Amino acid sequence: MATSAPRSLRNLPSVDLVLNTAEAEALRGRFGRPALTDAIRAELDEARAAFRESDGGLPDVGQIAARAGARLEQASQPSLRPVFNLTGVVLHTNLGRAILADAAVEAAIGAMRMAAALEFDVASGKRGERDEHVRQLLCELTGAEDATVVNNNAAAVLLTLNSLSRGREAIVSRGELIEIGAAFRLPDIMARAGARLAEVGTTNRTHPRDYTAALGPRSGVILKVHTSNYRIEGFTTGVGAATLAGIAREAGVPLVHDLGSGVLVDLSRYGLEKEPTVREAIAAGADLVTFSGDKLLGGPQAGFIVGRRDLLARIGRNPMKRALRVDKIRLAAIEATLKLYRDPDRLAERLPTVRLLARPEAEIAAQARGLAPAIAAALGDRYAVEVASCRSEVGSGALPLETLPSAGLAIHGLGRGGGLERLAARFRALSTPVIGRIDGGALMLDLRCLEDEAAFRSVLAELAGDPPA
Ligand SMILES: *Cc1c(COP(=O)(O)O)cnc(C)c1O
Repeated sequence: MATSAPRSLRNLPSVDLVLNTAEAEALRGRFGRPALTDAIRAELDEARAAFRESDGGLPDVGQIAARAGARLEQASQPSLRPVFNLTGVVLHTNLGRAILADAAVEAAIGAMRMAAALEFDVASGKRGERDEHVRQLLCELTGAEDATVVNNNAAAVLLTLNSLSRGREAIVSRGELIEIGAAFRLPDIMARAGARLAEVGTTNRTHPRDYTAALGPRSGVILKVHTSNYRIEGFTTGVGAATLAGIAREAGVPLVHDLGSGVLVDLSRYGLEKEPTVREAIAAGADLVTFSGDKLLGGPQAGFIVGRRDLLARIGRNPMKRALRVDKIRLAAIEATLKLYRDPDRLAERLPTVRLLARPEAEIAAQARGLAPAIAAALGDRYAVEVASCRSEVGSGALPLETLPSAGLAIHGLGRGGGLERLAARFRALSTPVIGRIDGGALMLDLRCLEDEAAFRSVLAELAGDPPA
């Protein structure tokens, strides 16, 4: 026991002495000798410092081994951990956006375990092309002539502008100069792409004549940007995609439409607000359309460029494309995700993003009623847990004004106010962290995205063991 330890630093065990214990033997098997030695050294340093500070007891050999074990355990936790997203934001950028469909997960695992015919044509035995795995599918789903895939939509926009508008002007409406998170500001992306920004119109109103006046020999592209994360309302005019396509065609300048979220089907059939689909943007006359893989499309992080074959050929020749390409793991997941769109009737069943967004409030409320007693029991009598209705958000800037009626659990502290931050921290400290949101004096757990209820119940059991907050 620490209290009965002799009161001199000389009595602190040596590294070798700790290494010789049975406990250390087991730790060596799990973590390896160098890591174990480092952990023991670190614990001995801490014990020495604590002794000097408080002149208290010294840990014995067994205690040092146990502390080194705890330290190694802690350090071996993955940094990127799965969490329960109960924030109510379905496509939460900070929580990794879309959850993949089983088919996509299996395809990705398959691609990881074995060599894959990534750039190899199995039929002819000759070199193949990476894009070939998804080109046909993307064309089929969007009505475009040709397609390519890169790291994300930011990369798709960067590559498109650099390929078509380097040293030239990219014409954009002032109402569409977007920022998507601090790291994606359109003017900055343009500058890095080597394109000169030519702003037209005003924040709230842009007319066809604003575009025609700006067009000239220096024009590289007209860029139309879907204002995915905000709306300008009131006295506004924009130039529709079809009108703009006519203006672009007349001037012989390509129209690039950055749609942001890659919607491939009419979402209103799942009870969501209608977003323009990629097919509609192509049909309206855009020469190229860019969109994300991990927003409403529900796949892994990716960026797609679809449209005219001659323009995609120019993009394909840009050396920057190589720097922005995706690997076989993601390509496998993208292909499997896109294939699900061939059967829109079963999409809500198979694609988690659509399934979660389409979940009816009544079903979520029933789940909340079923879980409330378990949470109340785990938290004890210092908290009140009630079923509450709430609103979920799509997230990732998609459908910014639409919220979905949802339900969850509102947890209030019964003590002298406060304590909610501490309660939220207790939920985050679980072996699979539970992430809710503090709202209106309660910790709110929106259950829209809770599918694995058994796993959730089993981590709740850990709450019960905690000391009261
Ligand atoms: C989200 C978004 C982007 C960036 O897409 P990422 O896939 O996150 O890189 C670009 N443009 C628009 C309009 C967007 O909504």
